[in-house]
Amino acid sequence: MSQETVLTRPKEDPWEMALEQFHRAADYLPLKRGIREFLAYPKRELTVNFPVKMDDGSVRIFTGYRVHHSTVLGPTKGGIRYHPDVTLNEVRALAMWMTWKCAVAGLPYGGAKGGVVCDPKKMSMNELENLTRRYATEISILMGPESDIPAPDVGTNPQVMAWIMDTYSMHRGYSVPAVVTGKPISIGGSQGRFEATGRGCMIVAREGAKYLGIPLQEARVVVQGFGNVGSVAAYLMHDAGAKVIAVSDSRGGIYNPKGIDPRQVLDHKRKTGSVVDFPGADVVTNEELLELPCDILIPSALEGAITGANAPKIKAKLIVEGANGPTTPEADEILKERGVTVIPDILANSGGVIVSYFEWVQDLQSFFWTEEEINQRLERLMVQSFYHVLETAEKYKVDLRTGAMIRAISRVSDALMTRGIYP
Ligand code: NAD
Repeated sequence: MSQETVLTRPKEDPWEMALEQFHRAADYLPLKRGIREFLAYPKRELTVNFPVKMDDGSVRIFTGYRVHHSTVLGPTKGGIRYHPDVTLNEVRALAMWMTWKCAVAGLPYGGAKGGVVCDPKKMSMNELENLTRRYATEISILMGPESDIPAPDVGTNPQVMAWIMDTYSMHRGYSVPAVVTGKPISIGGSQGRFEATGRGCMIVAREGAKYLGIPLQEARVVVQGFGNVGSVAAYLMHDAGAKVIAVSDSRGGIYNPKGIDPRQVLDHKRKTGSVVDFPGADVVTNEELLELPCDILIPSALEGAITGANAPKIKAKLIVEGANGPTTPEADEILKERGVTVIPDILANSGGVIVSYFEWVQDLQSFFWTEEEINQRLERLMVQSFYHVLETAEKYKVDLRTGAMIRAISRVSDALMTRGIYP
């Protein structure tokens, strides 16, 4: 029998978490009060309530959001989430994190995020297509290849991106592939995009392990969340020689201290819908999984996984945040005191937006690169970002999250001061 884990959402509000992280880092910078306040607000927020025709002939009303946090560095970029627990505050936080993530990587984008309150697992393909096309139409007043470019996030995938691209293109009367990234290759997607976020996690995990003196060949790795980010991070860590000992999804986790082959787990998940019941591994709950003895922990599910309650019990030496916002500020403090290094989300999972940027550039030029070129450029940017963040953290004597935030806020505030306040 597979184990159903009762999922509890974090008590911490993601927007409050994002603001606390922002102010913690902003305290180190000589920002004028107005500039600091400006950066603490989302630029614009759109809420849409829209009807969708369901398979049984009924019409249901869904609520969706699109938030732009900042347009200082360029058009806004950020994923779209389909999940029953989506809230405006969650989307606000994710949009702000996108601003910092793009700034850390040196991309010419501001941050955005979108979400629809729905359970895609309980909807048919037809219903998902109806929902996506209507939501895309509703947010088309913000969306565009020069203004706001969505991408996949939790609960969405390349097929959803294809429907968004097609809907937008139908309204225009011609194809606009650059309006969205994370598309299938056949319609202007990029080589390497599907693996990009997990690949980026593996690259910074490797550099982080090197920095801490943890030999990758013997490192025991635990991955929470076995979706796009977590599954790829798991098999690339395995390919890099590390030993993946536990993985999980929303239904529960599996553990074998001798190691598991993540590609076989992926096959099992494709066949059965979950990682649980994978032969030759013990079942663990998601709570137990985070506290397993290991060297590297890669939380790749949702916000608020590592809190003040479980941070004292975490045994990993290095945490690589595949997910956005998996560690609360309270947990950050505890981990810092305990000497656990956290590679923050805005650096660790930036591989996705980096290759999304490559995809957008390729679409605008109608000139496509090979997978090798993409992976080489991604490798170069991730390694460079990692050492830049490390350098800043050492200079200010702060943790890597604050170091990354200091870099990001400096870049955005410098651009803001240079552009000036209109009028
Ligand atoms: P996904 O929908 O492909 O996968 C999410 C996974 O997490 C699923 O396996 C789900 O079962 C699991 N999960 C959900 N709740 C869980 C829980 N409480 N415990 C354990 N597992 C749980 O989503 P994704 O695209 O892989 O995104 C995961 C995280 O990575 C999110 O925080 C997202 O914002 C972030 N992220 C994604 C990308 C990207 O390119 N997809 C880029 C950057 C950051």
